[in-house]
Amino acid sequence: MAKSNAYSGKSTTAIHAGEIPDPVTGASAPNIVMSSTYVSEEPAGFSAHELTDESPFLYGRWANPTVRSLEQKLAALEGTEACICLASGMAAASAIFLSLLSSGDHLIISDVSYAGVAELARDTLPRFGIEVSIVNTSDLDAVAASVRPNTKLIHSETPVNPIMRLSDVAGLAKIAKFAGAKLSCDATFASPLGQKSAELGVDYVMHSITKYIGGHGDAIGGAICGTSEDIKALNLEAAIHYGGILSPFNAWLISRGAATLPLRMRAHEEGAMAVAKWLEAHPKVTSVMYPGLESHPQHELAKAQMQNFSGMLTFQVGGAAEGQALAEVMTKELQVVHYAVSLGHHRSLIYWMPTEGLMETSFRLEGEQLEDYRQYAGDGIFRLSVGLEDASDLIADFERVLG
Ligand SMILES: *Cc1c(COP(=O)(O)O)cnc(C)c1O
Repeated sequence: MAKSNAYSGKSTTAIHAGEIPDPVTGASAPNIVMSSTYVSEEPAGFSAHELTDESPFLYGRWANPTVRSLEQKLAALEGTEACICLASGMAAASAIFLSLLSSGDHLIISDVSYAGVAELARDTLPRFGIEVSIVNTSDLDAVAASVRPNTKLIHSETPVNPIMRLSDVAGLAKIAKFAGAKLSCDATFASPLGQKSAELGVDYVMHSITKYIGGHGDAIGGAICGTSEDIKALNLEAAIHYGGILSPFNAWLISRGAATLPLRMRAHEEGAMAVAKWLEAHPKVTSVMYPGLESHPQHELAKAQMQNFSGMLTFQVGGAAEGQALAEVMTKELQVVHYAVSLGHHRSLIYWMPTEGLMETSFRLEGEQLEDYRQYAGDGIFRLSVGLEDASDLIADFERVLG
């Protein structure tokens, strides 16, 4: 939880925000502060309710200098007053839901989202008496029609994992405002460089910083950016009371990754565009979904709302049987791309996601919502996170398995 300091350029911000040379040693690179407790200069209170921005560090679950530095960097990149980092993207999602919603409140959530978030909303929240509406958030009329007097929160995700469908963030913000509700948005796929979520009206900008922000596949973490007041409330409940804090070591690793985020996002976009175009021209590929392609059904919205199309794309090779067979070939024959879940790393990652299986375990969509899902994903998609390798090597790898 911390205020951001702003530089005019994103690259400078990514490198310098939240950091100062060590005042004791002059070290240019930040140290990791692992201490769980801090020596007090005078006796003070022992309740988190007494905590202010000016409070000295007291205990590691309340605040940590290394984590705070990352929070300042992310707030500056996202253009918000404050940020809180937590142990994982899921810890960030549960922090938003459980801190904002009480028994009797109503949540509108995207019918497609990160699978863990989908399952949390469908299975866990109703147990606490929270009403949950599962709505296609790319359809603003459907969202507006779902608003109830007790609607407290609208949770969106764009571009949405795994199908690459977009939601109109400014449109959702208008609906939320009119409803007197808060808007949260999981912007993990876009990263802070791909979408100005807060400027578009999002109250809680959420990221799995395991992905693009960390960028190297070696540390799990989550973040929420927003106003000082909102983030302070989240800090008290989610970090201090639920306890899902980010470890200082992970904060240090993720901060080092975040310093090159603007540079990496440009390279991810360039690589993804080259691979998407190559896939689109391949006779065995029946569909490619990448917001940067003119063929993406929401390419106009993508151009209006995104400053970088990111490195995530999906493709299909016919039906479920063809997809399953190719996935088996990929696990054995890919030499550069790793057949693995997760995304946003410097290494390219691919995973086969059959529609039927995801419907059973996570999304459970029917009727119109299932039809819409199938428009983007058919019987199943390969979700590809284009890393930072040379596009020519990635294409050679896909040539190897596609023929
Ligand atoms: C990975 C991911 C999450 C969950 O993040 P973790 O860090 O794995 O807990 C949430 N949302 C999206 C879009 C993700 O890709």
